[in-house]
Amino acid sequence: MALAKNPRSVLHALEPIGLGTGEVESLLSYLCRLAVSHSTSTLSLSRAVAQRFEHEVEEQFDWYHRSLSGIGESALTWSSALSAMTSVPRLDRLTFLPWKEVIAQNGLPIISKGQFCPQCFADDHNSGRTPYFRLAWESKSVSVCHVHRSRLTQHCPCCGKDNVRHAASLVVPGWCTKCGSFLGCEAHGHDTQLSIKPVELWRARQIRELLQAQDQLDVLPQRQALVDSISHIIGEMDGGKSAHFAKRLGISKSTIHYWLQTDNTPTLEASLRVASQSGISLLKLLSGDLFGWNAPSEGQQLALALLKPVTQQRAQRREIDWREVEIQLQRCLLEPAPISVREVSRRLGIEPRQLYLNFNQMTRQIAERWKAYRKRVRDERVEAAMPHIESAARSVLSTGKSLNLREVTSHVQPDVLSGVHGLFRVLREVRERGR
Ligand SMILES: [Zn+2]
Ligand SMILES: [Zn+2]
Repeated sequence: MALAKNPRSVLHALEPIGLGTGEVESLLSYLCRLAVSHSTSTLSLSRAVAQRFEHEVEEQFDWYHRSLSGIGESALTWSSALSAMTSVPRLDRLTFLPWKEVIAQNGLPIISKGQFCPQCFADDHNSGRTPYFRLAWESKSVSVCHVHRSRLTQHCPCCGKDNVRHAASLVVPGWCTKCGSFLGCEAHGHDTQLSIKPVELWRARQIRELLQAQDQLDVLPQRQALVDSISHIIGEMDGGKSAHFAKRLGISKSTIHYWLQTDNTPTLEASLRVASQSGISLLKLLSGDLFGWNAPSEGQQLALALLKPVTQQRAQRREIDWREVEIQLQRCLLEPAPISVREVSRRLGIEPRQLYLNFNQMTRQIAERWKAYRKRVRDERVEAAMPHIESAARSVLSTGKSLNLREVTSHVQPDVLSGVHGLFRVLREVRERGR
């Protein structure tokens, strides 16, 4: 690549999106857009950057496995490298690095299979903006979009695959890396909104406030100010008794002891709990700014307690009537319409693995029946689409163009092709028939 050969060469000075707002772009998004603007793959660009700025580059370099947008070494290396190469200053504002001193080193988990808000992508598209990944989506503490009040997803609305946001060598933010479809879509009604808990919205709002503020920080928030604040809060709410306060948070007493007595720093999760129980915002807590804060009164405390995440309880062991399960499985095999093992498992409330373990032969029969049925449906769809594809192929060839997927699909009504799998294979067949 040219930029590796020429050390003075500079990448495009691409403008980051959303600086100073809660919708600020992530560094990962920036890297992907930068690659697109240089008409190269994200993988090649990341290799070129890594070769210049990291001492050793592993053979299998996976840029998306590094938490580029977090608070660790990768975020630091990559934000400074990209700033140097693009001449855009302070790209660390596209990461959580400004909070590095007040969040424990491994205390800000980054989501590994990217999550996104389809409505945000749709908004980007409709307003003529380049679709991009929000930094807020990177944090595991965020599960909903605070703009649309809808749940973030990891799945492509078109092909249903997850991990489609990155993990491919070429990533165009907003498009599925598996099937190429646009990941944006309008609201699906209220069903997703209803399942959102107040605590999820509250968390998303807290993170949003951090991101909004991080562009304007004069001094980076310091650990000591945070610890002093926590100590003050414990004094006001629990008369200085750490054990009481620990109970409110649902964490161990010794954890608080380590914050106050040694140089341990709270994780983001722990600070969120402190904020939720004391009624201070996460931003103020991490900035060590207690101005105007008063210990919540009894009634307020009850309301705030709602914001505390529920610690996961072990699911109750359930007695399964295996004889009844067997009867149900037999019934499934006799039903005229085949159903999938997944669907059977859902209906019976028993994991597919359990079904295979206990009723191996019957479960496999159900799976085979479903597979054969699916194949039949697919073949029928191809059969129905074939005349349309053939006629499209003829028109493409008559204009002197070559017969490729893009040309053919642009000549066929989308609904005709929607259920057709393996279009490449079908096209090859058409080509061979034409010879
Ligand atoms: Zn959204
Ligand atoms: Zn897809």
